[in-house]
Amino acid sequence: MSKPTCYSTKAYSAASATSPLGAAVIERRTPTETDVQIQILYCGVCHSDLHFARNEWHFTQYPAVPGHEIVGKVTSVGSGVKKFKVGDTVGVGCLVDSCRTCPSCLSGLEQFCDLGMTGGTYGGTEKHLGTPTLGGYSQSIVVTEDFVLRMPANLNLAAAAPLLCAGITTYSPLRRAKVGPGHKVGIVGLGGLGHMAVKFAKAFGAQVVLFTTSSSKVADGKRLGAHEVVVSTDESQMAAHAGTFDFILDAVSATHDINAYLNLLKRDGHLVLVGAPEKPIPVGAFALLMRRRSLSGSLIGGLPETQEMLDFCGKHDITSDIEMIQMDQINTAYERMLKSDVKYRFVIDMASLA
Ligand code: NAP
Ligand code: ZN
Ligand code: ZN
Repeated sequence: MSKPTCYSTKAYSAASATSPLGAAVIERRTPTETDVQIQILYCGVCHSDLHFARNEWHFTQYPAVPGHEIVGKVTSVGSGVKKFKVGDTVGVGCLVDSCRTCPSCLSGLEQFCDLGMTGGTYGGTEKHLGTPTLGGYSQSIVVTEDFVLRMPANLNLAAAAPLLCAGITTYSPLRRAKVGPGHKVGIVGLGGLGHMAVKFAKAFGAQVVLFTTSSSKVADGKRLGAHEVVVSTDESQMAAHAGTFDFILDAVSATHDINAYLNLLKRDGHLVLVGAPEKPIPVGAFALLMRRRSLSGSLIGGLPETQEMLDFCGKHDITSDIEMIQMDQINTAYERMLKSDVKYRFVIDMASLA
């Protein structure tokens, strides 16, 4: 494979784990035969962007460009592209490539590729250039057509951007657990992921209980679809739910006491962790042994399920509750995210980068 040529595009990047993000010019490959070039209109701000920019997961290479909740318009396509044409409204999530030959990739579970997440939208490897992949805090991106998604025409594009990560990351484990009518489901943490989880669990017909540390979010939790909201710092409110949940989804970004939630599960109840805090979370053996409970994790979703989720959101008119920001407000947005002060997803208006 010969190296394609590159073009320059504006972006926002971090130079080190401790430096704020700032304006930069980056190089992207010019579209090859199977590539789609996208003008980015909006990009959601995931807590993973912050973990990554600050090297909290210990694999960041600098300069780093975060952003994996990308929506935009197709501005050019390679000669071999079959699924997209110039002017289409498209999305790109956490993946821009994978090996495409291992059993996981062949099953549409590209996020579990045997080679690892080499095709991450950021923090992966740009296969054509051999450089680190650079994310969506940028004016444009080039992605092979198989990793580009169709956006439902009826959805507000800015509010749909967070579906590309917060949406699929919560949709996938709820679907896998077949959450539905008759299930008592807990969602822990009302942030970007948590608020999408509440919306999906409600849409799937479950009885939804939200757990939040922020008493200021109780009314919003109910408005978003929770039947009940528990302030998790109140021990008596927590005790009232002991041993009653079929399923709990934990979407907390920091270390916390997960045993308190395991203890709320019924016999054979299941807790899925999607939050990815920097530090390990201690698990008490008896929280699992008693009532044969189980704990597992879940990572975003593959391409087919991401398209399924987008189509479901189009059909049921589900989007994210967003706060639009300009690109140069990103550092303040990160500080607010750390204080759990976002309702409920920041989305960058990429026109502000021009
Ligand atoms: P977010 O918007 O910042 O929300 C996190 C929420 O967690 C906060 O709103 C807060 O909810 C709660 N929280 C924060 N600090 C806490 C603490 N010390 N103790 C208890 N609760 C606390 O973050 P996000 O974008 O939803 O992401 C959440 C986590 O999921 C991050 O770690 C992110 O990296 C990870 N993630 C994982 C995947 C995956 O594939 N598994 C995908 C995307 C993101 P309350 O105010 O309601 O308590
Ligand atoms: Zn994310
Ligand atoms: Zn693979």
